[in-house]
Amino acid sequence: MKKDIDWGNLGFGYITTDKRYVADYREGQWQEGRLTDDATVVINECAGILQYCQEVFEGLKAYTTEDGSIVTFRPDLNASRMADSARRMEMPPFPEERFIEALDAVVRENADWVPPFGTGATLYIRPYMFASTPVIGVKPAEGYQFRMFCTPVGPYFKDGVKPLSICVSDFDRAAPRGTGFIKAGLNYAMSLHAHVTAHAAGYDENMFLDPATRTYVEETGGANFLFITKDGEVVTPESDSILPSVTRRSLMYVAEHYLGLKTVQRPVRFDELKDFEECGICGTAAVICPVGRVVRGDEEVLFPSGMEKMGPITQKLYDTLVGIQYGTVPAPEGWIHKIC
Ligand SMILES: *Cc1c(COP(=O)(O)O)cnc(C)c1O
Repeated sequence: MKKDIDWGNLGFGYITTDKRYVADYREGQWQEGRLTDDATVVINECAGILQYCQEVFEGLKAYTTEDGSIVTFRPDLNASRMADSARRMEMPPFPEERFIEALDAVVRENADWVPPFGTGATLYIRPYMFASTPVIGVKPAEGYQFRMFCTPVGPYFKDGVKPLSICVSDFDRAAPRGTGFIKAGLNYAMSLHAHVTAHAAGYDENMFLDPATRTYVEETGGANFLFITKDGEVVTPESDSILPSVTRRSLMYVAEHYLGLKTVQRPVRFDELKDFEECGICGTAAVICPVGRVVRGDEEVLFPSGMEKMGPITQKLYDTLVGIQYGTVPAPEGWIHKIC
């Protein structure tokens, strides 16, 4: 039976659910995993995660489609991205097929926590792995733990869509040739100061520029940018330190193959922003969120789509991808992973 939750009014917070998956890496291999009721992690005081921050994570969601199935969206891309992140952090990648098995088990065992269709709420799933054995001299740990838990989260656009106000951060999120392209907690730890500073100044998000020259647009702390030109072309920034968002890759595909739009991934200069018609940021949580305004010092860029609603092309991209996710628009082969 579904949990007694006011699904439409859930926020984005952690709620402990029934089961989570755990597997340990010991003696050079990943051991058999298991589901557990225990939401507490017990590790040594000198564990590598606590001392040198060896950790990577993922984020995806499960939700109920119109026909009552519980599905996830392109989880194979999360599995492979997590393996890429792990390799960059000198961690043993968790086998991608086991990632999918763990996902199926966690969602199935927490099916009562998956929000019903039509509520806008989803079950957010957080796979992560960390160095679990002691390390004091600087080197990768020998032992790791992979875990996956889930928590129901509310609709992102609860009070309707409001275009965001964004500022260009004075701080950087990723060094050139650093770790910007992997999903690691360390990238978030170092962006918290920028995050708090932006919020205190009344902005919703930061725009990070390329740290070497501060000329090109990279991304926000947790979402990729999309821009729409006056000719209806969809442009997304290219850089080695942008995290390859599953949502962004899917939206670019949708733009080209469903909406017949031209798409391009290329370096985008900050001083080009004023020429774009629409701007949005994309990620698993909101799919796409419109941006109305970007401020850098005393310079302000206002997109013609304004501060009241999504621009028309952003709206089409959003509607089509959400339609694909919920089964009202036919999905490309392999995009919808049915669990039960
Ligand atoms: C997770 C994340 C995104 C969004 O990726 P999705 O796969 O679309 O959820 C974008 N940027 C950063 C830095 C991220 O960590």
